[in-house]
Amino acid sequence: LAAATVVPFDGEGQLADGHPVALLANVGGAADAVSAAAAHAEGVGLFRTEFCFLDRVEALTVEEQVAAYRGVLAAFPGRKVVVRTLDAGSDKPLPFANADHEDNPALGVRGLRIARRMPALLDDQLRALARAAEAESAVVEVMAPMVATVEEAGEFAERARAAGLTRVGIMIETPSAALLAAELFDVVDFVSLGTNDLAQYTLAADRLLSELGDLNDPWQPAVLRLIGMVGEAGRAAGKPVGVCGEAGGDPALAAVLVGLGVTSLSMTARSLGRVATALAEVTEDDCRRAAAAVLAARTGEETRAAASAALRNA
Ligand code: PEP
Ligand code: MG
Repeated sequence: LAAATVVPFDGEGQLADGHPVALLANVGGAADAVSAAAAHAEGVGLFRTEFCFLDRVEALTVEEQVAAYRGVLAAFPGRKVVVRTLDAGSDKPLPFANADHEDNPALGVRGLRIARRMPALLDDQLRALARAAEAESAVVEVMAPMVATVEEAGEFAERARAAGLTRVGIMIETPSAALLAAELFDVVDFVSLGTNDLAQYTLAADRLLSELGDLNDPWQPAVLRLIGMVGEAGRAAGKPVGVCGEAGGDPALAAVLVGLGVTSLSMTARSLGRVATALAEVTEDDCRRAAAAVLAARTGEETRAAASAALRNA
């Protein structure tokens, strides 16, 4: 991969052979969405709705949620906006949703699991989102965080559809979900890989501990192999596989992810240009070669070296 000059993103992610790879933005609210649109993001791949609830002692009312969600949707008329339901808990505890104390909060009642004891919180959110979607022209997709089983995904999809949402997905953040990807595609329309948590749970290394940063790394071969399994399941089902963790904004990893079967990358808006530049230099064949090379590697160091060797002459 030749050293490339960073160019601003022109709003169309594609490989050198024209193969499209949607480049989307991660946002936490309307202000982020406006800057992401100004940076030409093709849409939103991850709207972290818990950011709208931060510093709140109680949940937002449905009315307040409709207004908050409309603020993001309005920045992307006619474009895809993937909205994630509340991911409270662990590194993002919210007083009205999480217990005061859990011995292992990363393994506790977080993300979609909160709906086990507070089903109305999820249903209100789905209702608010359906109303926001009706009022704006953005193409709204909804997904749940922290899914581990097919039952959880199926129940979430049922409730989201009952609320009037038509495009329903889940995040793949647990090794369990990655291993069950084929079965999960039977009940949802798309998946998005949360590589931050997927690395944390695969390597059993707390993502908040910088001391364990070498383990908490999407280049770890076990993480890349799980991503490859999800990509294969996506190809077989003919359904989209996104990445919305930090890995989605790593230009060196972009071609590898596409080769593993990833169809869109979502990132902080300031990474769009660099990722677009990296992808514009490689073909789909190059991506597949890079993917095959990392899948054969045994260590985090080897996966990086294998990818750059495979792409050197691209
Ligand atoms: C992830 O886990 O990769 C992700 C995108 O979600 P968050 O970082 O918000 O947990
Ligand atoms: Mg996560």
